[in-house]
Amino acid sequence: MGKKRRKLRPGRLLLFFILLAGMIYGVVQVGQKVQSVVSNLHIGQGGTTNDINTGIVLSNRQPEHINEKVTTVSMSSEDLSCGNLVLVNNKVLYSLIDQTESVSLFDYKSNKYNVKDKNVLVSQTVTDSLNRMLDDFYSATGLSTVNVVSGYRTYEFQESLYQDEVKQKGETQASLWVAKPGGSEHHTGLAVDFSLFFKNGTSATYDGSGDYRQLNDNAYQYGFIVRYDQSKSELTGIAYEPWHFRYVGLPHSYIMVEKNMCLEEYIDYLRQYEFGKEHLLVTYENKQYEIYFTTETDVPVPKDKEYEISGNNVDGYIVTVFTETP
Ligand SMILES: [Zn+2]
Repeated sequence: MGKKRRKLRPGRLLLFFILLAGMIYGVVQVGQKVQSVVSNLHIGQGGTTNDINTGIVLSNRQPEHINEKVTTVSMSSEDLSCGNLVLVNNKVLYSLIDQTESVSLFDYKSNKYNVKDKNVLVSQTVTDSLNRMLDDFYSATGLSTVNVVSGYRTYEFQESLYQDEVKQKGETQASLWVAKPGGSEHHTGLAVDFSLFFKNGTSATYDGSGDYRQLNDNAYQYGFIVRYDQSKSELTGIAYEPWHFRYVGLPHSYIMVEKNMCLEEYIDYLRQYEFGKEHLLVTYENKQYEIYFTTETDVPVPKDKEYEISGNNVDGYIVTVFTETP
C-alpha cells in the first residue's frame, strides 16, 4: 500500500495542476463572458427602442368570445382628459391643468435618488413605480445620482419656459424643445425630467448613455416610456429628450416598446380595437390583459373583472381589463 501511495503522488500532483489550470481557465472564460454581456447592454444608439424584446405576446380576441357580462360607466367631458393614457402635445392640448392632483415627490421618494426640491410635484399614480424603477437601477449599478428636476407644471410656468426659449432660439426651434403652454405632458403630473447630481455637488445633463442606458431601456417594465424618441420626433413634434419619462402604466408601456410606437402612434393603433369587435389581448409572464377602445360616453366594462378606464384626450376611452392568467 505504501509503495502504491508513493507511486501515485506525482500523478496526483499533476492532476491537481491540471484541475487548477482548468479552474483558472474557467474563471477567466466566465469573466470574459460576463464582461461581454455587460458591454452588450451598452451597445446601440441612444434613443431607439426597437431592439428591445419585451417578451410579451399580443393577439386578438375574437368578438364571439367576448364576455357578455357588461355594464356601463358614464363619463363626463372632463374624464376624456383623465387617466394614464392621455395624449398631450402641441396639437392636442391639455385642459385640466389647474385640476391636476399632485403630491410633492420629495415626501414620497425612496433614498436611492434625488429630487431637486419640495416644489417638484407629480401625480401620486407615478410615485411607487418611479421608486421601484430607480431602486432597481441603484441595485444594478450602485448609482444614486439621478435627480428628478421637473414634474407637474402650471400653464403659467410652461408659458414662461416657452417664451424664454423663443427669445433665445426663435419660434420654430423653440417649439422643438419646449412644448407650448397647454401642450406639455408636464401639465398632467405623469411626466418627470431627470438630471444628474453627484456627491461632490456637481450636476450634469441626463443623456441616458453609459450606465444610464439600462434605465432608459428598462423603463417600460415599470410603466414608463421615454416619450421623445430620436426616431419619432416628426410624430411627437419634440426633439430627442432622453431625460423625459412619461408614465402610461402596464401593460401599455410593454406594447409601445414591443411595437416601437410613440404615444401618438399607440393612441391611433388602439382605435382598431373598438368595443364589441376584436379586442387586443396581451400576455406576459403570468398576467393577461384585454384592451379595447370606445367613443361612447357610457363606457362598457365587464361586470365581474377588474378594469381601468383612461381617456385619450382626443376622442374616446381606452379600457384595460385584468383577466385571469391564461
Ligand atoms: Zn420633460
